[in-house]
Amino acid sequence: MIADLVFKNVQLHTEGGMIQSGVAVKDGKIIAIAADDYLPSAKEVIDGCGQHLLPGGVDPHVHFRDPSKNERETFMTGSMAAAAGGVTTVCEHPISLPPPYSPELLRRRIEIADRQSLVDFVFFGAAGADKLDEIPKVAKEEIVAFKTFFHEPPEGRDLEFAGLTMANDAQIYDGFQAVAKTGKILAIHAENNDIIANQIKKLRAAGAVSGMHHADSRPPISEIEAVAKVLCLAKATGTRVQLCHISTNEAAELVKQAKNSGQEAYLETCPHYLFLNETALEKFGPFAKCNPPLRKQEIVDALWEYVQDGSVDMIGSDHGPFLTAEKETGYKDIFVAPAGFPGIDLRLPLMLTAVKQGKLTIERVLELISANPAKIYGLYPQKGAIQVGADADFVMVDLDREFVVDRTKGYSRSADTARVYDGWTLSGLPTMTMVRGKIVMKDGVVSAENEGWGQLVSAIK
Ligand SMILES: [Zn+2]
Repeated sequence: MIADLVFKNVQLHTEGGMIQSGVAVKDGKIIAIAADDYLPSAKEVIDGCGQHLLPGGVDPHVHFRDPSKNERETFMTGSMAAAAGGVTTVCEHPISLPPPYSPELLRRRIEIADRQSLVDFVFFGAAGADKLDEIPKVAKEEIVAFKTFFHEPPEGRDLEFAGLTMANDAQIYDGFQAVAKTGKILAIHAENNDIIANQIKKLRAAGAVSGMHHADSRPPISEIEAVAKVLCLAKATGTRVQLCHISTNEAAELVKQAKNSGQEAYLETCPHYLFLNETALEKFGPFAKCNPPLRKQEIVDALWEYVQDGSVDMIGSDHGPFLTAEKETGYKDIFVAPAGFPGIDLRLPLMLTAVKQGKLTIERVLELISANPAKIYGLYPQKGAIQVGADADFVMVDLDREFVVDRTKGYSRSADTARVYDGWTLSGLPTMTMVRGKIVMKDGVVSAENEGWGQLVSAIK
């Protein structure tokens, strides 16, 4: 058999670790892993020049927005940024206009992604207390999980959060029961709405509305209390839960204990809770605003331990594009600016920089950014692994090559708002991204020609 292409002269990262081996691809699938001399002949040979070939990234947490708010991002531009960062499968969260709380709305979003995305994708459905009847219907569609928020819609964004919130205990209890019946994972943005609303009221009354006050408005306890509630209600209702973007070690500890006691709970954090602290809010104001907020350095240091000890299951970018003008509203009043910033293209280099710094092994990084999310959402081993039969999704990286982050070169439509890492020197430059046998990024260049190459990935039922 003649393969479509083979990679030679690469350091290949399989689940068993790194091996000096090549890999052969045919019809978008991996057909052989063998020493270079034993690979089948192929129409094309790619010489990796000794670089590392990793499984393509699976980003468990992105917001590409489409079909509305296209000025912030589209599946086209978001997926180009994904390709630049070695991400070959994105998990799209349901903030949209309106969110996908019904089968029709979900299908509309899938159709758009199918037309535009360069990389493969899966969707989360919206679960809200105001649309409980829709939850079982959406569960029968192509989703890998549900998502909900424990707060009311942010100011001025009511429609973007329709069917997506459970804003009090009664709603949470009803919502959890509804999702539990479907057997799907419920991903939760867990922060205590009452504490935050009251903090903001007090801070505003005192005229404390600058960047740093964002952190004051959402103290660690607002996350810790909400995570405790999630675990308690999930246990009572039998809901499989994912704690999104955990920012504190104390919340991570609660999830770790729940996992140890046998509860099905998945722990996600993001690069910004590991590489930044709250002083970025002082420096970048609204451009460093995310929810939960960036924390004090001692919390950041303590959170790293949960990444290192295996408690954290996955690292999501929480790629959150907004317009520069929208972010700038926060200079006058930080509470007005939307929360979130882009980051899908830097998730892998940041984590590989941590490898270089001796904080993590590369094997652990690959679990966090590829294998684990694929396993949790039922996409493994089609995604998240280099093994025979899996999709030929790869990212090639030069672990030694340093580069300086330059937001003006970003592919996200909101790249201008990606301020927090701008100018940083990182190692582990992705030099090629391949999705099902097709190169979608080479030497940092993502070609728009591959628009629509991405496909919906069906979870294994
Ligand atoms: Zn998010």
